[in-house]
Amino acid sequence: MADQPGQKGDKGPSLKEQLWDPVAGFGVTFRTMFRKVVTEQYPKEKLPTAPRFHGRHQLNRWPDGLEKCVGCELCAWACPADAIYVEGAENTDDTGTVGEDGTRESGRYSAGERYGRVYQINYLRCILCGLCIEACPTRALTMTNEYELADDSRASLIYEKSDLLAPLLPGMEQPPHPMRLGSDDDYYRGDYQQPVPVPAVPATEEAQS
Ligand code: SF4
Ligand code: SF4
Repeated sequence: MADQPGQKGDKGPSLKEQLWDPVAGFGVTFRTMFRKVVTEQYPKEKLPTAPRFHGRHQLNRWPDGLEKCVGCELCAWACPADAIYVEGAENTDDTGTVGEDGTRESGRYSAGERYGRVYQINYLRCILCGLCIEACPTRALTMTNEYELADDSRASLIYEKSDLLAPLLPGMEQPPHPMRLGSDDDYYRGDYQQPVPVPAVPATEEAQS
């Protein structure tokens, strides 16, 4: 039976093991000191994501400012995590009426029969899989590259329509308003009968060009 360490007859580590093994070990450390550092200094330094990274959602607009969402709920049905809640409502072609609570009750918000009156995404449930954006028939719903979604409040992780809607770009008009670019078919085909508003070039970009 072989002697166990510490037992009588155990000769301990050889001279090579005592001298060479620590040198070999520190050699690994020394070589690594000159390799390219891969540690990311987040959040001090933020690196760009991959172009098709699945981040926070966005509800898009047509060039005249109308919303692309038609409140069809296909995104909600496609979601495997039950993270989307949509309530559709009818568009009307009047100038819009305001209810007792100050919210608009009628008017045109999208270029379809209906629009998304209520739209919520619960980021406590969302797994950012992207199935909802594949299901959307009007490309109203897309995903941005924004990934900083952490919060310490459950309520603030339920994003409302106002949090998800794309901002109004120069040349766009805040809905409700009539369809400015043609019929609803023209919108869906991108074959506008009226000139598309040309976004004004921001002053900073003018100065750079
Ligand atoms: S990304 Fe996936 S989990 Fe998140 S809302 Fe869309 S379908 Fe649901
Ligand atoms: S985002 Fe797209 S799929 Fe979802 S309700 Fe609006 S139009 Fe329908």
